[in-house]
Amino acid sequence: MAQVQDYIRTIPDFPHAGIMFRDVTTLFADPRGFRIAVDQLLQPYAGRRIDVVVGLEARGFILGGAVAHQLSAGFVPVRKKGKLPAATISEDYTLEYGQATVEVHDDAIAPGQSVLIVDDLLATGGTAEAGIKLVERLGGDIVGCAFVVDLPDLGGRARLEGLGMKVHALCA
Ligand code: IMP
Repeated sequence: MAQVQDYIRTIPDFPHAGIMFRDVTTLFADPRGFRIAVDQLLQPYAGRRIDVVVGLEARGFILGGAVAHQLSAGFVPVRKKGKLPAATISEDYTLEYGQATVEVHDDAIAPGQSVLIVDDLLATGGTAEAGIKLVERLGGDIVGCAFVVDLPDLGGRARLEGLGMKVHALCA
């Protein structure tokens, strides 16, 4: 039976020389691949109370929306700076080259709501950590962080576990 990783291709030297980019668009494009990915992402949380799935821009929107629908949860986007129309809170984080900022609407999550964070890929964990901080500042209770791909050599899992997070990933 095909596994999630069978649907993901690796593109060398994208977006920079020396980077091996995991391209999940082939996973999303395949009906069976997409279903397997969504089913396996939500599997640890099925039957548990999840009020809100938070998706990290941009591929986390595609996965997170499908997971939220299956769990009968709401969906909240964490977006890059300047994209959300109403009042926001923001977190800066460090990229390989430079800084980035993500935002969430300041009324998107109510204190005590249980939250699942979803993205396609965990590398250094900087993006996910920024999302975690936003959710925690709004008083959300994070049940877990779910990714299709974990690149453990880049330290993201250890970083998130160091913050007390439970990390669920489908492949390395
Ligand atoms: P991190 O912040 O270093 O953990 O990087 C993770 C973020 O960068 C996620 O939002 C990913 O979508 C994106 N990302 C980094 N490397 C890749 C890749 O090889 N394929 C797809 N997305 C990637």
